[in-house]
Amino acid sequence: MNRLKCVKGMHDVLPQDMPKWHFLEDSYRELVERYGYVEIRTPVLEPLELFVRGIGEDTDIVEKEMYAFDDKGGARLALRPEGTASVIRSFVQHNMHALQPVSKLYYIGPMFRRERPAKGRYRQFYQAGAELIGVADPAADAEIIDMAVQFVGALGIENVKVQVNSLGDRETRPAYRKALVEHFTGRTEELCSDCVRRLDTNPLRVLDCKVEGCRQVAAGAPSVLDFLAEGAREHFDELRRILDRNGTPYDVVPRMVRGLNYYTRTIFEIQGESKDLGAQSTIVGGGRYDNLVEELGGKSTPTIGFAFGIERLLLMLGDSARRERRDVVFVAAIGEGGLDRASSLARDLRRSGFDVEVPYAMGSLRSQLKKADRAGATVALIAGEDEAGRGAVTLRHMKQGSQEEVLLTDLRSRLEALK
Ligand code: AMP
Repeated sequence: MNRLKCVKGMHDVLPQDMPKWHFLEDSYRELVERYGYVEIRTPVLEPLELFVRGIGEDTDIVEKEMYAFDDKGGARLALRPEGTASVIRSFVQHNMHALQPVSKLYYIGPMFRRERPAKGRYRQFYQAGAELIGVADPAADAEIIDMAVQFVGALGIENVKVQVNSLGDRETRPAYRKALVEHFTGRTEELCSDCVRRLDTNPLRVLDCKVEGCRQVAAGAPSVLDFLAEGAREHFDELRRILDRNGTPYDVVPRMVRGLNYYTRTIFEIQGESKDLGAQSTIVGGGRYDNLVEELGGKSTPTIGFAFGIERLLLMLGDSARRERRDVVFVAAIGEGGLDRASSLARDLRRSGFDVEVPYAMGSLRSQLKKADRAGATVALIAGEDEAGRGAVTLRHMKQGSQEEVLLTDLRSRLEALK
């Protein structure tokens, strides 16, 4: 029978890759919890309408990339393509604002987008993100940018660039849209067919198009920063003042936009270099979305957040970035009743908190020590009959090959001392 494979564009995360995943996830949890964030886990399946309303009907994600279907009961569902809409749906559904005025939530989990698979681009990929809900002040923007920068730094990734922009708010958008449409309308023959359509639906997205002709026209487009209304302008100036004061290096990139419609005011990206992903690759993307809570049925609540793709970040990490395995004790089964002795000793030691491997089958001492080596054991315990008679075991230091006899009553403290 032919073997089944996982779905195209999806991938298994194999045991040998886990030390890196764990290192990254542990570092992330440790860091965001230091800033007071708590974890939230939402379902991977959501009502399709959540993403249509939250991300926007005229975005690539919703238009082209979503896994959406009717379930057997006729409900329109979608696999989540990103985390923010779900987190905010949950925030509204559970009246979290009533519990406390500020919520700081983080998440780690799989997301689904039907994109063309490529190196670092999957149809199921993992994102981790954070949302700071309930603070309008630019200090929140600065803190969240700082947290993202700290995180990337803690992973040992160097030469990153922070890019910031402001997309203004409801007052800014109509005038800027109009200016963009005017700029592009005279040059529609240079734009791709998608962008010609976008001029009607969402002209900001022309700025984000990767097609060379569109990029050239976009390079001369008006800057959103010239259109900011007073509130948005002051907000952006204050953010920049705080970033300067903190010594956070950044560039203002006036034509930067992001692929999701919910952003208002601040947006930012952290770019890094990777030989697998090309010279400049977005590691972290985020921004403010002050209207999203209201759009999802809650009361108007300012919010800022970011997300990063775990697989892409892992491609940038060196080999030393891995969670170290704890010391392993191997219990060898030797002589009459060896398996019983080994398994009951293993059981006791595991209950005392040690990581213990057993051979599962009898064999020569040589072959068992090989198994111990393969299991990465630092210590092997040889529970032979003679030692058992003396209430002891032989403790072998795997690296040095030296051995000592240890009384069972002293074993735990001896093993502790070796850790
Ligand atoms: P976005 O939600 O589009 O702002 O994406 C945030 C981050 O998620 C990106 O910078 C990538 O690191 C990651 N990401 C987005 N799409 C994919 C994908 N198809 N495969 C792997 N990572 C992705």
